[in-house]
Amino acid sequence: MSVLKGLAIYVLIALSALIFFYQVAGGPSGTGNEVPISQVINQVKDNKIEKVSIEGNKITAEVKSSDQKLISRKEEGESIYKILESSGVDPKSVTIEVKDLSTQQAWTGIISAILPVLILVGLMFLLFRNAREGAQGIFSFAQSRARLFTKDQPQIKFTDVAGAEEAKKELSEIVEFLKTPDKFKALGARIPRGVLLVGPPGTGKTLISRAIAGEAGVPFYSIAGSEFMEMLVGVGASRVRDMFLQAKKNAPAIIFIDEIESIGRQRGIGISGGHDEREQTLNQILVEMDGFTPNERLIILAATNRPDLLDAALIRPGRFDRRVVLSLPDLQERKAIIELHMKGKPFTKNVSVEKLARRTVGFSGADLANMLNEAAILAAREGKKAIEPKDLEEAATKEKLGPQRKRMQSEKDRKLAAYHEAGHAVVGHFLKNVDPVHRISIVSRGISGGHTLFPPTEDRSNESKSRLLEQITAALGGQAAEDLVFKDISTGAASDIEIATNIARQMVTQYGMSALGPISITSKPMFGIWRGMSDGEDLSPKLHDAVDIEIRKIIDTCYKNAQISLKKYKVKLDLVAKALLEKETLESDEFEGIVGSKK
Ligand code: ADP
Ligand code: MG
Ligand code: ZN
Repeated sequence: MSVLKGLAIYVLIALSALIFFYQVAGGPSGTGNEVPISQVINQVKDNKIEKVSIEGNKITAEVKSSDQKLISRKEEGESIYKILESSGVDPKSVTIEVKDLSTQQAWTGIISAILPVLILVGLMFLLFRNAREGAQGIFSFAQSRARLFTKDQPQIKFTDVAGAEEAKKELSEIVEFLKTPDKFKALGARIPRGVLLVGPPGTGKTLISRAIAGEAGVPFYSIAGSEFMEMLVGVGASRVRDMFLQAKKNAPAIIFIDEIESIGRQRGIGISGGHDEREQTLNQILVEMDGFTPNERLIILAATNRPDLLDAALIRPGRFDRRVVLSLPDLQERKAIIELHMKGKPFTKNVSVEKLARRTVGFSGADLANMLNEAAILAAREGKKAIEPKDLEEAATKEKLGPQRKRMQSEKDRKLAAYHEAGHAVVGHFLKNVDPVHRISIVSRGISGGHTLFPPTEDRSNESKSRLLEQITAALGGQAAEDLVFKDISTGAASDIEIATNIARQMVTQYGMSALGPISITSKPMFGIWRGMSDGEDLSPKLHDAVDIEIRKIIDTCYKNAQISLKKYKVKLDLVAKALLEKETLESDEFEGIVGSKK
């Protein structure tokens, strides 16, 4: 469409150029074989000309008994009769035909005067139309942007969602409600109105909702929360209205609002007053949800990874009162997801789904899907026919730590990195509750200079105090090793320190694992500012100091323990660092070959 419009403009410009050329240059000059008028006169004198035709100033003389024609020009306003007479030729000796051009000339004059104006008008029309369409684009924002999934579209089914059995069961119940409401009504069951899908990012919330669209066989309106908020104030609310209107018309239907936290945040806790638009949209959703009866067979599905941020009005009974939780996949679920995404990719025989699932504790479904895709890309890049365990390992590391960055490192930096990572690994290895070292590397990734991986070997729903303390100790092992070997420390430990401090803070303020005892000390941040500013939940300065002291105690003790361990196993530390400088990366078996197996 726009291509055509562009073309039209070019054609118009070309046309006007052409007309300009005609006007200024007076049209194309003769065909090249024009002869002087004297030649025509001479031929007439010699009686060789049959007929002379005059067309404006153009003279065409037809030569007798031949097809030849002489073309010439006379001066403007001169009469051919006069010319012939003054040359001593009798005009009657030849047939003269004068074509009247005056009207034709007048037309050409008019057209060439008007056409540029017409073209200008045309151009302006096109420009205006463009502008108007743009404006309409803005006004059409007010209509719902919800995409409608109908029966005919390529569909995702529940079988495309691996694991998440409980969520699938609950959601298929809801599909049942829509299909056979009477069955439920007969027993007095109230049909749910709003269902909230809750879970960390990448756990398949969007995916499973698509699957519902595929399974339900009813119109499915899908929109992302952020799509309500665009450019014009007041648009969000009218979009909500429009979407509900459409859905009601086509009931039974499902409305799906993805990432609802972008509109459904708690109201009234912002300091800036700039959230009116969001509030209006939210209010409209609440109004609409109250405004339909269960008989209308409309179900509102929403997904969020931050249910804690949602406005209380949104989650009260009668609105989003049902929750379906999607959590990070456990071992069996990871296996299922891996198997699902392995389909269509060739793997070497020694790839073990079981091992892969064990290696990927804490990975979400999206992480797993990405990992497998990344492995395929890596294998393809190296021209392999099938994906090897090595590619999968690299992809898994990349998924969590970012891609390798080979960069020039001075020998001194490499040595520092080697001791730093060896420090984490050795300290961790000799702590009872820290998971075994999976891999150590001094190849930098993302922002880290190297890495030591202790991926969890099991799905834990709980952490113990002793394990948390040991994790802090291992995290501080890197800097402790630098200190021990070089008598100096580097900036490379910044993120280790952050991790250690966060664990320590949680131990003190949430888990009751310090001398302060089992008290919860929360100061919930709101938009980056302490919430206490508005509702008086602030910590007293005294409590604040006490928390700081407890955190410090934990960190200090752990750091000392790391130092003690490193002094004790200094020989092994040296060996591991040396091996790292040689090989850059040590796998778990190579590491255990040096330090002995984990007890
Ligand atoms: P969310 O909306 O919860 O952030 P998505 O639904 O967008 O997550 O998931 C992203 C991708 O991760 C999906 O398209 C799919 O490829 C993969 N994925 C996530 N969970 C699963 C699962 N349970 N089974 C299969 N694939 C999954
Ligand atoms: Mg999503
Ligand atoms: Zn470190």
